[in-house]
Amino acid sequence: MTDGPHSLRLDRVERHYAQGEDRLTILDGADFEIMPGEMVALVAPSGAGKSTLLHIAGLLERPDGGEVYINGEACGTLEDARRTAMRRQAIGFVYQFHHLLPEFSALENVMIPQLIAGLGQKQAAERARQLLDYMRIGPRASHRPAELSGGEQQRVAIARAVANNPYVLLADEPTGNLDPHTSGYVFDALTALVRQSGVAALIATHNHQLAARMDRAITLEGGKIVPLDLGAHL
Ligand code: ADP
Repeated sequence: MTDGPHSLRLDRVERHYAQGEDRLTILDGADFEIMPGEMVALVAPSGAGKSTLLHIAGLLERPDGGEVYINGEACGTLEDARRTAMRRQAIGFVYQFHHLLPEFSALENVMIPQLIAGLGQKQAAERARQLLDYMRIGPRASHRPAELSGGEQQRVAIARAVANNPYVLLADEPTGNLDPHTSGYVFDALTALVRQSGVAALIATHNHQLAARMDRAITLEGGKIVPLDLGAHL
């Protein structure tokens, strides 16, 4: 069931919303692919359809047409249970706000998705520790989110997103709540992790400087995905 070397591919994806009598077209033949270990910036104005695109790529929403391939598997028409399993196992999400569980430690937050996926306590703890060390927050592993700085919380959230070794990492303004210095630091950690793990990363951001540091940038125009030349925007 493979379909080339990409980790994420959207093929002529359509998404429309009914608006009274009218039909609002958000995605109109959206096509792109992201290779393993590739980092792509999604830069588009508010309302252009970034969240819609991330939700469809993340199997949270179904397209009205076209197909989403995750590691070569067609996922748009999978039945619900299989889609949910695929989402848990194959896709990691990072949001602007960390959404860590407040009553659990950093370590436990990174363990939980692995436990849900069926891993044993010991293995999950081991991997969580490795990831937190990799993100340079190993010494903070026993702290709860409220005891961590914004940058540390976000690094835990990134570690959690890749805990199950997903093929695809989707991020929505992952450094949007951070000051520029911390944002750069968290972005560097994210980049290192993408390169090291070979996950395909699609990262929505309004920050052109961060976007320029990724492999390439794309935007949405008339419901289609087009390359974005950041040189023209800086
Ligand atoms: P972005 O994330 O780029 O700001 P969205 O994907 O959230 O954009 O939304 C794109 C457009 O689709 C917006 O105009 C929004 O109002 C509209 N939209 C989003 N979700 C719905 C919905 N469930 N019903 C109707 N319109 C929606």
